[in-house]
Amino acid sequence: MSEIKPSLLDFTQKELMLLIKPPFRVKQIFGWLYHQYAEDFDDMKNIPKALKDELSDKFVVNPLTIINKEESIDGTIKYLLQMQDGKTMEAVWLKMKDTQFDESGEVIQEAKYTICVSTQVGCKVGCTFCLTAKGGFTRDLTAGEIVAQVVTLKRDNDHKHNRKINIVYMGMGEPLDNLSNLAKAIEIFKEDNGLCISAKRQTVSTSGLSNKIDQLGAMDLGVHIAISLHAVDDKLRTELIPMNKAHNINSIIEAVKRFPIDTRKRVMFEYLVIKNKNDDIASAKKLVKLLTGIKAKVNLIFFNPYPGTDYQRPTRANMVAFQEYLVNHGLLCTIRDSKGIDISAACGQLKEKELGKEK
Ligand code: SAH
Ligand code: SF4
Repeated sequence: MSEIKPSLLDFTQKELMLLIKPPFRVKQIFGWLYHQYAEDFDDMKNIPKALKDELSDKFVVNPLTIINKEESIDGTIKYLLQMQDGKTMEAVWLKMKDTQFDESGEVIQEAKYTICVSTQVGCKVGCTFCLTAKGGFTRDLTAGEIVAQVVTLKRDNDHKHNRKINIVYMGMGEPLDNLSNLAKAIEIFKEDNGLCISAKRQTVSTSGLSNKIDQLGAMDLGVHIAISLHAVDDKLRTELIPMNKAHNINSIIEAVKRFPIDTRKRVMFEYLVIKNKNDDIASAKKLVKLLTGIKAKVNLIFFNPYPGTDYQRPTRANMVAFQEYLVNHGLLCTIRDSKGIDISAACGQLKEKELGKEK
């Protein structure tokens, strides 16, 4: 294995200014990184060779290599990405809306995409329904490895730097368990001379580390949060998410109430629906009560079964009845279509693979 070096994608523009002189070179390099999606120093045509040699001794450009790509019939593409230490993780390219054409065939609206990124290799939280949890925890991703997922997927899909994109931190790992690198990546995504992805377009999904929700809120980054609630009583929630013992439902709800939210926006509550566990109307009733007083939006997710799990996918009829109950009681509620289900790229289906074979 070659020497592991920090990546240029690990740094904000301000930080690079301290490392590279003069400042206009940093602006040029930023352009190569985030507008041209440079893979290597050789790509940076207007940077003097002496500077490139100096930088390449200490840094790499993009720390990721695409190892495998699986494309779903719905346009979802799952990427297996390898890092410098040989570890792998996954990121997913999701098509949210098709390109719209008028009668003469002119494009009236470009297709809309979302990138689902990983924040860790594996996860410590150990949810009993989650495939990622089965492989245990390996390590946190660096800020550069988080940023590189977006750069790599945009480049691979020929998605120009100034086209809008949404980011959801819903791949492998618990984002708030890697808070400092997550916060750094959010800042780098926001850079005006870089990808310019506003915080409003970034959603952090968490299993509910209530103290870290407060810490993220105190950073005032402007990101959205999505809470993986999944249960309305602590007994079931602890069965599904063991660390609920330390961060119970009440502590999460209180942390959400303190979280700075854009007044036009809502906090998303993800509710994974599992047959005969939490798909009954009594649970829907408790959910309405629990979310009273919060500007909430509920996203119902079908449990995606995988070999070896005892949990089952709910019926569509139960999902719809659950949704109807919430809507009739004043809650906004959507049912998430599982994108990329044929290639197991749906949320919660991401698991580290070592060059094609299961770890
Ligand atoms: N760790 C964070 C973000 C990654 S998981 C979190 O838990 O929120 C992203 C989402 O996928 C979570 O809402 C999670 O509960 C869901 N998920 C996990 N396993 C799943 C499965 N088998 N079927 C459907 N969704 C699942
Ligand atoms: Fe980790 Fe999220 Fe999976 Fe739970 S659902 S084990 S927090 S990745």
